[in-house]
Amino acid sequence: MTQETKAKATAQYTAEEASKKLQQSMDVAEDAREKEYRHPTFAGLLFMGEFKPELLFPFPFQPEEDRKEADAFLEKLEAYLRANVDAEEIDRTHEIPKEVIEEMARMGVFAMKVPKEYDGLGFSQTNYCRAVVKVASHCGNVGVLVTAHQSIGVPQPLKLYGTEEQKAKYLPKFRQGQISAFALTEPDVGSDPAEMAAEARLSDDGTHYILNGEKLWCTNGTIADVIVVMAKTAPKVIKGKERKQISAFILEMDSPGIEIVQRCEFMGLRALYNGYIRFTDVKIPAENLIWDEGRGLAIALGTINVGRITLPAGCTGAAKQCLSIARRWGLERVQWGQPIGLHEEGRNKIAYIASTTLAMEAVTWLTCGWVDQGGVDIRIETAMAKLFCTEALWKIVDMTMQLRGGRGYEKGRSLAERGEPPYAVERIMRDCRVNLILEGSTEIMHLFLAREAMDPHFRRAMDLVKGKLAGSEKTSKILELLKFYSWWLPSQHVKGWIPGSYPEMGSLEKHFKFIKKASHKLARSIFYAMAKHKQGLERRQMLLARLVEVGTELFVMSATCSYAIGLKDQDAEKGDSPIALADYFCTLARRRIADHFDAVSDNDDRQANKLARRVFDSDMRWLEEGVIWTGPED
Ligand SMILES: Cc1cc2nc3c(=O)[nH]c(=O)nc-3n(C[C@H](O)[C@H](O)[C@H](O)COP(=O)(O)OP(=O)(O)OC[C@H]3O[C@@H](n4cnc5c(N)ncnc54)[C@H](O)[C@@H]3O)c2cc1C
Repeated sequence: MTQETKAKATAQYTAEEASKKLQQSMDVAEDAREKEYRHPTFAGLLFMGEFKPELLFPFPFQPEEDRKEADAFLEKLEAYLRANVDAEEIDRTHEIPKEVIEEMARMGVFAMKVPKEYDGLGFSQTNYCRAVVKVASHCGNVGVLVTAHQSIGVPQPLKLYGTEEQKAKYLPKFRQGQISAFALTEPDVGSDPAEMAAEARLSDDGTHYILNGEKLWCTNGTIADVIVVMAKTAPKVIKGKERKQISAFILEMDSPGIEIVQRCEFMGLRALYNGYIRFTDVKIPAENLIWDEGRGLAIALGTINVGRITLPAGCTGAAKQCLSIARRWGLERVQWGQPIGLHEEGRNKIAYIASTTLAMEAVTWLTCGWVDQGGVDIRIETAMAKLFCTEALWKIVDMTMQLRGGRGYEKGRSLAERGEPPYAVERIMRDCRVNLILEGSTEIMHLFLAREAMDPHFRRAMDLVKGKLAGSEKTSKILELLKFYSWWLPSQHVKGWIPGSYPEMGSLEKHFKFIKKASHKLARSIFYAMAKHKQGLERRQMLLARLVEVGTELFVMSATCSYAIGLKDQDAEKGDSPIALADYFCTLARRRIADHFDAVSDNDDRQANKLARRVFDSDMRWLEEGVIWTGPED
């Protein structure tokens, strides 16, 4: 095979495999969908051209009695962190002092989400995230220790899917300070966990499973007492086809056969207790299987769905720190005759940081509020919140570093040595970068949201597209689709011309009118993209990304406007400042939306695709020459 044909075959294989795998993963995601919910998802409806502000207006603020539940705890936690947790030292030594972990355990930090009947603090999602905002803003390492344990570690899947016996046995241990972890990723299995290799074989007498395999990057894995681990179990034949089964187990880490091969070291979060773990004939009692055999990925995805709300909270905490640094330094540092924050480039950054921080806070508290209300399917909104907040924080940190100039690049300790305020922008930057990669990377969020965006259309035409229908059934399906779309599509045009009226939004009404109009355009654009590219659409990732970014911006705009009005009404002292922030955020978001819509038809995707192929085909190797290559040779 020539180099060229090999490259072509590889590309072809990749495209077909990707499509098949995507389908598999999405099928599992479908399985993980909450079946019972009270009202339809706000963001999901936006993709179909339906803007329903009543689903998030008025803003669902935390009820007073729930707030009081955590106030005293949060005060104590804050005082403890201020006095005893030195984030710079933790970053330098790569260790969180043992006494810090022990004291947090005594306070109940590792049992915030454990229900009271299991000896936990029984916090609502909102109170838990209030704690996350504080901890993560003070020290990223401690933040991740707490959240990896509680958002995705054993407490969360047990609460969602555990039996009464499992809950009674394990949940009280977290009030006694036990720490947990979540082990899904493997060396060859990252974004696509359906392909995992770790295997758990049921013993002949059915009393236990025998686990073999490896897990990579398991946060808290090197110190955890108990973890939730996903592994393949025996395949099952379903509808005549053998289907791979992935199952989830509670595993006590003092079981024989567990080896911590490596404590992994990262660019940021340098005190993470993150492990590469090997399992050799590890016995797991059969009663430690969570839910059922074959439900492991559904458990993992269901857990991450709720776990994903924590990342926006952590990001919001870090964004608020950046805002404080940018504001103080922007006014204090004078260059070229005036404070750097007052030069127009500086003002621009400050306005972006402040308004975007409000938007991050809005989606964080909105999604938390929905979780606490219960019965709301929030998969789409939590994915959007994760996507938006992680990307937004990265831009905010970058701008804050730029405003700080050389001091932004300097370590807090080094700044402190000569008596300057030890603002740790470089540490925040190192610590937050990974947020765009884990718990569903930006690209995977795009794919996930794209599938959700197209889902109503897919479901309507699925049988036809899959060739499952013939004869009169096929004809009647085609007629049914023609009837629906001959009404739905023109209605999306007509409704787009009707401006809508939202007097309760005051000066933000124009943005709600825009959201309504843009949601119709989004719905039409999704439909036209599907009609044009048909099954090939799933390979047009850039096009899909633009459409889901529009949906995400519209969701965040809606949340931000609703939040701003609520804040203004709640607290007269804030004056019109929430409105001014929301107004500017929406102005920026509208520009981004316009750019995305423009790029749907006017883009350079084809050229980029061709060029990337040539880079892989190796006829541009010359460009890599002239440096000292330190990696292995091809
Ligand atoms: C600090 C840290 C902590 C972690 N903690 C945990 C933990 O506690 N438990 C755990 O199980 N895992 C953990 N992980 C693993 C993490 O969840 C994975 O890194 C993540 O799932 C991505 O997998 P990957 O790194 O193998 O990237 P890959 O899946 O190899 O992806 C590499 C790049 O390709 C992109 N990509 C992949 N597929 C597609 C596609 N279909 N289309 C377009 N782009 C694509 C990705 O977005 C990414 O940019 C951790 C990782 C890190 C770095």
